[in-house]
Amino acid sequence: HATILLSRSDVQKLLSMEAAIAAVEAAFAAHGEGRALMPPKVYLELDAYHGDLRAMPAYVDGAAGVKWVNSHPENPARFDLPSVMGMYILSDPATALPLAVMDATLLTAVRTGAAAAIASKHLAARAPRTVGFVGCGVQARTLLEAHRAVYGDTFEVLCADVSEHAARVFAEEARGRVVSLEEASGADVVNASTPARAPVVKRAWVKDGAHVNAIGADAHGKQELDPAILVDGRVVIDDWEQATHSGEVNVPLETGELRREQIHATLGEVLAGKRPGREGARITVFDSTGLAVQDVALARVVHAAAREQGLGTSFDFFR
Ligand code: NAD
Repeated sequence: HATILLSRSDVQKLLSMEAAIAAVEAAFAAHGEGRALMPPKVYLELDAYHGDLRAMPAYVDGAAGVKWVNSHPENPARFDLPSVMGMYILSDPATALPLAVMDATLLTAVRTGAAAAIASKHLAARAPRTVGFVGCGVQARTLLEAHRAVYGDTFEVLCADVSEHAARVFAEEARGRVVSLEEASGADVVNASTPARAPVVKRAWVKDGAHVNAIGADAHGKQELDPAILVDGRVVIDDWEQATHSGEVNVPLETGELRREQIHATLGEVLAGKRPGREGARITVFDSTGLAVQDVALARVVHAAAREQGLGTSFDFFR
């Protein structure tokens, strides 16, 4: 009855991007078919500490669990700690036995990259010749890895960031090119992953035929895209409740620049064949806020791989 404890480096060894994409794609389809359980995220706002903690429970296809994750932006400067630290508890749905407790920081980055690449695969007009990165931080790395897993190493990588240093380091790592925000926004597939609270990507920069993954906005008030991109484009969200509250659409819905009827579908509905994907759209946009079903799907993959490979530390919580 032991629980497997898995560190970040264990998770890194156990989780391949290919397996992550397959698991996340199946989880989105289950969400679209109404087969998943995913109560809304619970936020514990710790204003006095300039941070928050969130609980994200989900059940899908025989896997149940919860992610306990935070956002403390001052951690690196004040405490020499990361600003985000996630833990995952994977439970046996039949008995509630905790099967594994694992680092969920890497899990979050991987499942986020995977979701965007799945959206590109189902919504982009064709395999991209250029992929633009607006924001070259942690997420950009897994966004790139996931797009290479889907398309192979076949596209040019365009890197843009307000920090020239961040763009340069990422471009070197990615064998890409440092470009302006305008040029990155003009790519066939655009991945926006900044913490911006005002539009970074302008309408005029995005070309017809493009697909845009809006990853950065995952809390109320955050926004990366000119609302005209959403109005002229076909908007696919990950989840109604989360996206309208905290996704890319949250600000333009509040200002009236976008109406709810202009949101086309959830990604799960497109994967489940309930709603059309790209057909006839000038521009497609995927608004990602990050779903608990993505996390549980990956935690299951990590746990299965850990058992197979005998990795991790056994611990009996109830002895
Ligand atoms: P990060 O700090 O590692 O990287 C962000 C990058 O954006 C930095 O290089 C920064 O210089 C750049 N940047 C900031 N403002 C910019 C601007 N106005 N224009 C261009 N570049 C700018 O952060 P990260 O971990 O990569 O996360 C990025 C965003 O994605 C955050 O807002 C985070 O909350 C969000 N996020 C979303 C999901 C999801 O599921 N949708 C998951 C994880 C993180």
